[in-house]
Amino acid sequence: MLGTIRGRITVAFIITSTITAVLGLSAASSIRRADELVTRTFDNSLMSINYARAAAADFAGMRAADARRWTTTDVAMRNALNQRVAALRQSYTESLEIAVDRAQSVRASRAAVAVAGAVEEWLDARLKLSDGPGQTMAWATLDRHAVAAEENFDLLINYTAGDGFTYRQEARAVVARETMLNLIGTFIAILLSGTVSYALGRRIIRPLADASQVASRIAAGDLSGAIPAGSADEVGRLLASMGVMRDNIRSAMEQEVAQRLTAEAHLADALETSKEGIVVVDADGRVTLTNGQAESYLGVAPGSLPPGTTVAQLAAASPDPANLARALLHPSDEHGEHRLGDGRWLRIGRSRTLDGGFMAVLSDITLLKDQESRLVSTNLRLDTALDNMSHGLCMFDADGRLTVVNRRYCEIFDLPQDAAILGLRHEALVALGGVAALGQESALSSEVGTIRGRDLKHLKNGRIIAISHKAVAGGGIVATYEDVTERRQAEARIAFMARHDVLTGLPNRSVFVERIDEALAHLGRGSRFSVLCLDLDRFKEVNDTLGHPVGDALLRAVAERLSACVREVDTVARLGGDEFAIILCDIRRPDDATILARRIVEVLSAPYTLDGHQVSVGVSIGICFAPGDGTTCDKLLKNADVALYRAKADGRGTWRFFEIDMDIRLQARRALELDLREALANGEFQLHYQPIYDFRAGRIGGFEALVRWIHPTRGLVSPGEFITIAEEIGLIVPLGAWCLKTACEEAMRWPDGIKVAVNVSAVQFRDEIVVASVREALTASRLPPARLELEITESVLLKDNVATLATLHALRRLGVRIAMDDFGTGYSSLSYLRSFPFDKIKIDQSFVRDITPDSDSGLIVRAVIGLGASLGMRTTGEGIETQTQFDRLKAEGCDEGQGYLIAKPGPAATVPEVIARWSDTRSRSARAVA
Ligand code: C2E
Ligand code: MG
Ligand code: MG
Repeated sequence: MLGTIRGRITVAFIITSTITAVLGLSAASSIRRADELVTRTFDNSLMSINYARAAAADFAGMRAADARRWTTTDVAMRNALNQRVAALRQSYTESLEIAVDRAQSVRASRAAVAVAGAVEEWLDARLKLSDGPGQTMAWATLDRHAVAAEENFDLLINYTAGDGFTYRQEARAVVARETMLNLIGTFIAILLSGTVSYALGRRIIRPLADASQVASRIAAGDLSGAIPAGSADEVGRLLASMGVMRDNIRSAMEQEVAQRLTAEAHLADALETSKEGIVVVDADGRVTLTNGQAESYLGVAPGSLPPGTTVAQLAAASPDPANLARALLHPSDEHGEHRLGDGRWLRIGRSRTLDGGFMAVLSDITLLKDQESRLVSTNLRLDTALDNMSHGLCMFDADGRLTVVNRRYCEIFDLPQDAAILGLRHEALVALGGVAALGQESALSSEVGTIRGRDLKHLKNGRIIAISHKAVAGGGIVATYEDVTERRQAEARIAFMARHDVLTGLPNRSVFVERIDEALAHLGRGSRFSVLCLDLDRFKEVNDTLGHPVGDALLRAVAERLSACVREVDTVARLGGDEFAIILCDIRRPDDATILARRIVEVLSAPYTLDGHQVSVGVSIGICFAPGDGTTCDKLLKNADVALYRAKADGRGTWRFFEIDMDIRLQARRALELDLREALANGEFQLHYQPIYDFRAGRIGGFEALVRWIHPTRGLVSPGEFITIAEEIGLIVPLGAWCLKTACEEAMRWPDGIKVAVNVSAVQFRDEIVVASVREALTASRLPPARLELEITESVLLKDNVATLATLHALRRLGVRIAMDDFGTGYSSLSYLRSFPFDKIKIDQSFVRDITPDSDSGLIVRAVIGLGASLGMRTTGEGIETQTQFDRLKAEGCDEGQGYLIAKPGPAATVPEVIARWSDTRSRSARAVA
């Protein structure tokens, strides 16, 4: 324990503490003893004396009171004195008890007992004295007892006072002894503390001073001095540790020096092998360090720069026209680029050194420059492409700032070119009127839906823009904007056209069918609606004679008038051609449909002024009711159509309600149509020939071939009944070709000079088919073309005037003759005469019928004949049934005549007979033929 400083201090502490404790304890016990003695002296002895005295006083009081009792005779007084004695006796007893209690010695206690005994005897004697005889004797006893008591009282007091004195003496002896003891103990303690301090000082302070000296030497960098060996205590260990520490520091320093040397070697190596050239120049402008690469850039031999060479000298001596050294002389440039004489590019980075010079790092950036220039040209191309894009484009970075925008974007949003500045926040762009990519709405645009995943925006300027955006890697967004206004309009138009008739803007058949289905679906109990099918009368004539533009205008006008006739809730549709249809909703009264039909007939029949022409058409209407006449759309449309057919058959310009038997008639027409389709293949057609009489020559000049259908069950069906159907179903084309071929072949059997006329339908003129048919017929029959005459009606010329005229000319080039049939029935007969040099005009039989000199017809016939003569066209009067008509025409100068008067159309076999009959009839009366 004494081996360590801490142990030594602990031992010293224990010793001094023990001495102090012993001294303290001894002093404390002595003081306690003294206190006890003092207590005995004062508290017990003095108090005991006081109580003894008090008891003695009480006894004296008792004796006095007793004595007075004996001197008084007053009973009350005697009683009072007796009571006084009793009271004093009580007090005496208590005082004596306390005095006995506090008595300190045996002798005092014995004196107290004697007191008590004497007093008791005194009291007994007193009582005896008062009661019995022998008074004198008793007085003496009483006094004797009293004296004894008083003597014992004195003894008690004296003993007690003696005890107190004894205690006081004892206490004084104790205090004196303790004082001496404490003085000796304190002296010993001071001596011991001094010894302990001295020992500690010797064992701790000197080694510590040694250690501090060593520490100062190490701190001063002296790592070589000796370190004294210490003892085994803490300071000894401290000295040993300092020795170790000194050794460690020494080895660390040696290691660091070695590392630094290695690093320097590495640095030198790196400098030499570096691709960067390094030139260090001091404050005086002298080159202090260069590496091999720098020497190569400077164009000097390795190691050839003598120390102290200035940069200026180097620059002056350099043979290189680009002179890198001179570039180094511009200290203001922190970074610069320099092109060497061999074309390489260097970047010169200069940084200041602490000594006021600088270090220049020279990097070869030739490759970088190449890439840079390539990048510039790529960017140029990109910019050109961006600016010539048909789409608007803009791009925002992750912070919502504009990074790319092209010209088209500005055009689309009517932004000035310089408004869309790069870096602009997209909210700012929106505020300018652009539509940004992130869904913000400009005040100038509104959302109108999407197209193929792109948002559509409707700009206030009416344009519709399709926007697509895409997040780009690293945040931000790229958006393209396409102006789809035209496309959308076209789409809307297409959508409209899909459901409407383009010409009139009315709903088309599919919409009409939908509406009927809707009306059927909403049919309530007891409610009904009607379907009206309308077909314009004589529309075909208008179209054929005045041309399609007028026909179209007429259809538009009709559509307008029809729409005006119905209520909002009703539907007017154009089903095709001149067919219209109406749904009359929610019919209240049975004759609602009648009222409407009547109004429509009236309104549509009123004349139209179209393109300078007065035009009139009529309308036929078929009406049926739902649900009475049908509960499906098909049925209702079919039945209204049947009623329409009936209205037409009944003379047009009227309306008919559907009745069951109408359907039957329509079926008949359909059956006819079906038969007609097979008739050609079945060889059911025949040609009848009607002669054309040449007034001047007085003989038959030719025959008109008129087709006849010999139906297996119906018998002979006239062309009036089936030509229109044949035209409608397209059969007219093969039928027409067959007629041409048959007529030509037949004509080959006739005498030379007898011509054949064949009627050609307008339908055959489509696609110029007629030219091929005619050529084939002529080739097959070898009929001279001049003997073939083609009769066309005005309707042929109406189709496509230019193409038709070309076809007519083509036919003319074949050598055939062209006649205009039924002249005067159309609208523009005269104008057509001027468009093509017809060979012949056939005056319609309606004019011939009432040909009298003063009638309109007579005048017209005369005019036409005159016109024909002046245009070099022959004229033929049709439908001559009477001799008058025959004579009249002849007299008017008509070239030819045709009619039942001359001959009815008859089979081919009748031709020779007719020719023969009319061969020399120049003067013969035609009446004979009739
Ligand atoms: P169209 O070419 O004007 O032929 C004259 C029509 O008048 C014929 O009627 C003929 O029978 C009739 N006719 C002749 N003389 C008289 C007369 O004195 N009084 C009366 N009331 N009628 C007379 P058809 O044969 O019934 O032919 C009617 C129309 O059918 C022809 O009128 C023609 O337009 C057309 N047609 C006839 N055959 C052909 C044909 O092969 N091809 C074409 N495309 N149409 C034809
Ligand atoms: Mg004819
Ligand atoms: Mg005719």
